[in-house]
Amino acid sequence: MKRQKKQWKILVKGGLFSSVRPNQAHYIIAELEKIGKLDCVITQNIDNLYRKAENSPDKVFELHGNMRLVRCLSCGEQYSMEYIKEKLMYTPKAHKSIPLPQELERSILHGLACEWETALWVLESSHRKLMRRPLFSLRDMTSRLGYWSSERREICLSRNLVLHHPWDAVREVLLHEIAHQFANEALSTDGEPPHGPKFCTACKLLRANPKASGNYSSLHERIFHEVLSPEDKIMLRVKKLMALAESQNQHEAELAMAKAHALVAKYNVDLIARNEDRDFISVFVGNPALRHFRIDYHLAHLIQDFYFVYGLWVSAYVLEKGKMGRVLEISGTVQNTKIACYVHDFVQQFIHSQWHQYNHDKKLNHYRMIDFAVGIVEGFRSKLKLQSKGEKKTSTKQALIKVTDPLLLEYADHRYPRTTTFRGRISSQDDNVLRDGMKVGRKLVIFKGITDKGLGKNKIFQIAP
Ligand SMILES: [Zn+2]
Repeated sequence: MKRQKKQWKILVKGGLFSSVRPNQAHYIIAELEKIGKLDCVITQNIDNLYRKAENSPDKVFELHGNMRLVRCLSCGEQYSMEYIKEKLMYTPKAHKSIPLPQELERSILHGLACEWETALWVLESSHRKLMRRPLFSLRDMTSRLGYWSSERREICLSRNLVLHHPWDAVREVLLHEIAHQFANEALSTDGEPPHGPKFCTACKLLRANPKASGNYSSLHERIFHEVLSPEDKIMLRVKKLMALAESQNQHEAELAMAKAHALVAKYNVDLIARNEDRDFISVFVGNPALRHFRIDYHLAHLIQDFYFVYGLWVSAYVLEKGKMGRVLEISGTVQNTKIACYVHDFVQQFIHSQWHQYNHDKKLNHYRMIDFAVGIVEGFRSKLKLQSKGEKKTSTKQALIKVTDPLLLEYADHRYPRTTTFRGRISSQDDNVLRDGMKVGRKLVIFKGITDKGLGKNKIFQIAP
């Protein structure tokens, strides 16, 4: 029993695959289902990736179960993994008090109310005063993501959306419905169609997405589903190069990664030079939490400095804690956002596996882990800097340097009218551990195809001897 608990803790610390995303193969299989060419998927994987890629649950047979839901062995009830995670990490003895799924829903409803309060802060106080808190509810709906009912003064969201989609996707729909409420109650939309001019004004004021309702697909479906466009051809080439970065030969791997980075840089330089209209999107990276560590800030800066996205720590509801915390939100073109998310997850998993090896016989504590992780990120940063210098010599245009997209800054200015900066708490650090981390970080090569299966397998983490 004790050993089982320990194994669980190790799994939970590793994130339980919550941040892994489907790869192209998963999406192709989902596509096969859509065109009616798929009987079923039988898998031993427990990573939920087929479902994340939108295969319907009744087509996916998971022989070993699924990491999203667990069943209590004594009462037979199913619980969400998020919930169990919390119980395991912080109150190991609390099994008897595991609440029913209704409690999870109650926590989500509380979260919607907290987010509602927070969302209003972007408004002028004269407008804010006109808003009264509505009722919040969840319903089983298939044709819409949510709605605002003026008779009942109620914002209702789809149960499927809140239970099976990331919180940023939920929040996007919530904000859309708040805009309906605002248009209706503060700007009085009498006689206007639901998505009329006053609603559009409300969306602008609240930074809401006017499209996020009806049959619109959720945030992550829009971003992480592959659609072929001219930019995607560039991304396909980037992916091919990243596949080369998987090479056993460190030199070859480094070269491929540098080329992939140069291509991304060229894509961005061209994009800005052409100055065509472009859409930006904002997503959470990692999960909202009450507290973040030094490493989270270092990693956030790294992706902002090298991967053409704008990052900011924003308020967001922490489901397990039942209160508002913070999360890193990044904004950029869909392509850049995808790459930045990918790199973020990749580096995190890299840190995890490297720390496991490094600390195997040392038994160092959590603070040393952070030193080591910060070292990895900073080591990787120094390598990227060097690469961009090298690129500058060979070609004037293709360096992976900070290129600022003026339209992205405009977008961010509008989205975050009241910006505050958060700083990580500075704690004591062990310089030796930090230096060891940097050594490892300088050898980090990002490449395509990282999956949950790679977790724990050293093959995918390319480290020169
Ligand atoms: Zn609407």
